[in-house]
Amino acid sequence: MFALSYYHVRLALLAIFLFAYPTAPSWADSLSRMQISFLRATRSSINELQDQRQEVPTADREFQDFRAQIHVHTHLSHDSNATIEEILEAAKKCDTQVLLFSDHPAPEYDCFVDGYQGLQDGILMVPGAEQGGFLLFPKCSYRDAAYEGSQGLADLVLKDDGLVFLSHLEERLDWEIRGITGSEIYNTHADVMSERRFMASLRNPLLLMSLLPALQQYPQELFGAILDYPADYLQRWDQLCQTTPHTGVAANDSHHNQAIRAVVDAEGKLVIEDALGKQVATLDPEKIALIKTLTAKRQAGDVVLELDLDPYDRSFRHVSTHLLMRQLNQTEVWDALQSGRAYVGFEWLADPTGFWFEAQQEDQRWQMGSQVPFQSNTMPELQFSAVAPLPCLFKLIRDGQVVAEDRGRRFESEADQPGVYRLEAWLPIAGELKPWILSNPIYVRGR
Ligand SMILES: [Zn+2]
Repeated sequence: MFALSYYHVRLALLAIFLFAYPTAPSWADSLSRMQISFLRATRSSINELQDQRQEVPTADREFQDFRAQIHVHTHLSHDSNATIEEILEAAKKCDTQVLLFSDHPAPEYDCFVDGYQGLQDGILMVPGAEQGGFLLFPKCSYRDAAYEGSQGLADLVLKDDGLVFLSHLEERLDWEIRGITGSEIYNTHADVMSERRFMASLRNPLLLMSLLPALQQYPQELFGAILDYPADYLQRWDQLCQTTPHTGVAANDSHHNQAIRAVVDAEGKLVIEDALGKQVATLDPEKIALIKTLTAKRQAGDVVLELDLDPYDRSFRHVSTHLLMRQLNQTEVWDALQSGRAYVGFEWLADPTGFWFEAQQEDQRWQMGSQVPFQSNTMPELQFSAVAPLPCLFKLIRDGQVVAEDRGRRFESEADQPGVYRLEAWLPIAGELKPWILSNPIYVRGR
């Protein structure tokens, strides 16, 4: 008789782990999603959704919906060459109204004093830094102040009413920092880095060239092919919100530094340069047949290939954080982010503007981020309701678990117990369900 031993159980668990481990299938996914046929199907799903879009009436709302890009690098960062003009131009193209910058600190500048700030062309700019595993949006310079450890840095910025968000959760272990404003719940850079096969292809000019036709025809969809549901980020965020509210934001992590140019040099070799002009490889046509075909009849200085994967407008269209504010000014940005009146939307799938999620009881209403008292045996019961500009699959999540699902433009459900409730909206895209909207929670507290 075959008996299941401890060894067999361990073997089975290992097999389950290997099959369930997210990176393995997602390599195949991202590159297969970059096939022209898949990108074409993606575009046609997006167009069909656009035809179904109905504006959500918002005139009677206290708060209007403003599109923000958070975690944006400028030329002040060592890994970006972008001028403020380039960034503002991209923001205008994408109807972005708020830019929150996160430059890497360096001795030659002060991220608050030298960072871009104020209103320009209808776009509100907020200076900030990416430092010590945080996004920091200070209200004054803190460059010369002393601090100790992660908590010390967070406290330094918080004490003068600055905002502090956990950043790059995949890289940090100490994510339980007291008193902070919130956390990234999606990071584009982290999503790209999880695509190992795609990342390897970025270092292989021959594989890169095979992406060129897809990039020319479907640039936004190709960028979007990296999108995976940020399960790991959301799980940690759900845990953090159990103890204290954390506003969830999307990190664009825009740099415009994923580009490749192949130029013929004086000796007829093909020089591959990255977006910052650094030479990453020199390919000898005498050694690689394909390079010989590419460089044949070319002269020194000729650009044989140019692949630009992450211009700012593409990165901004990929994902945004929508802030619910009374008007466009910094006080309102602070209020929305400190009180959790915000949601994340993957714009490239569909414009989520107008999305709303609230709790109601009798004539009382609470927006996202609110703390709501839960009283058992009270009638009428506490109700959640939501509306979106497109029919979608709504998932109501309580303390990290899906507790209700429904399809449509509207969603309604009861809160039958205390918990941290948030809503997700998903869209069918080319035969897959894709996360579209991630709301901030409503915190229903028991007595
Ligand atoms: Zn960054």
